[in-house]
Amino acid sequence: MQLSPAERLLWGYGVTEPAHIDLEGIAHDQNAQVIYRPLHGCEARLATFGDRAVISVNSSSSEGRQRFSLAHELAHWICDRHSGSFLCAQEDIGPQNAEARTTEAQANGYASQLILPTYLVDPWLENKDAHLEIASALGNDFRTSVTAAAIKMIKRSKKAALIACHNQTRLLWHQRSRSFPSDFFPVRELHCDTEAFDMVFSDKSRMTKIKKEPANRWINGSGVYRLEAQTQSMRLPDGTILSSISLISENNRSRRF
Ligand SMILES: [Zn+2]
Repeated sequence: MQLSPAERLLWGYGVTEPAHIDLEGIAHDQNAQVIYRPLHGCEARLATFGDRAVISVNSSSSEGRQRFSLAHELAHWICDRHSGSFLCAQEDIGPQNAEARTTEAQANGYASQLILPTYLVDPWLENKDAHLEIASALGNDFRTSVTAAAIKMIKRSKKAALIACHNQTRLLWHQRSRSFPSDFFPVRELHCDTEAFDMVFSDKSRMTKIKKEPANRWINGSGVYRLEAQTQSMRLPDGTILSSISLISENNRSRRF
C-alpha cells in the first residue's frame, strides 16, 4: 500500500496502533511547542521562529477538535514552514474541507491522515457497515470527533453509503463512499417523516437507532423510490444533524450495490 506523507511520518515513529498517535510527542520532536489557551477569533495558530515553532490550540474546544487543530497546525509546520506563521479560523480547520487545492484544504487532508491514518483505519473497519455508531466507535478508539471519524469511515467504506449534515433549513455538506451511485444526491432539506427532522427542531442529543426506511426520504435520483436505506442520525455539538444513509442491496431490484 502506498503511504501518504502523513502516514510515512507516523510509520517512521513506529505507530502501529491508534493509541500510539502522540501528536504532542511528534510536535516536540519537530521542534514545535504546544500551548492550550483560550483563543479569540481563531481556532489555532502557528508562530514560527527560525527552526522552532509555537502551536497554540483553543483550550475551550472539545478534545477531538483540539487534536484535529493540532494536526492541522503540524501540517503547516511540516509542509508549509517556508510560508511563516498561520492564524487558522474555525471554518478553515475541519475534515469536511480537505479536498480543495488551497493551503488550508491541504493542511486538513494531511491532518486527517495524521489522526486517522488509512493503514490503521482500513483493518479497523474491515467489513463493518457504514453507520454512525461505527463512526462513533472509530472516533473513540482514535480520539477524534465523530465527524472526522464518519468522514474517514465513508471514504474507506466498500458499502454504497453516504453521510450528510443538515441544519433546520438545508444540507450543509455531504460525503459519499466510492460505490455510492454518482447520480444519487442527498436531499436538500430534512424530510419531515425522519427522526432527524424531529431532532433538528428539539434539543434531543441522543443518537437514533439504526432504522430501515424508504431511501427517497434521504436521497434524490432516478429509481430511488423503489429502494430502502438503513439510516442513523445524531445531533452534533453545534446543533446540526449528522446522518448516515446506507442503501440496501436486494437481488431482485434493478440496481445492485
Ligand atoms: Zn490553517
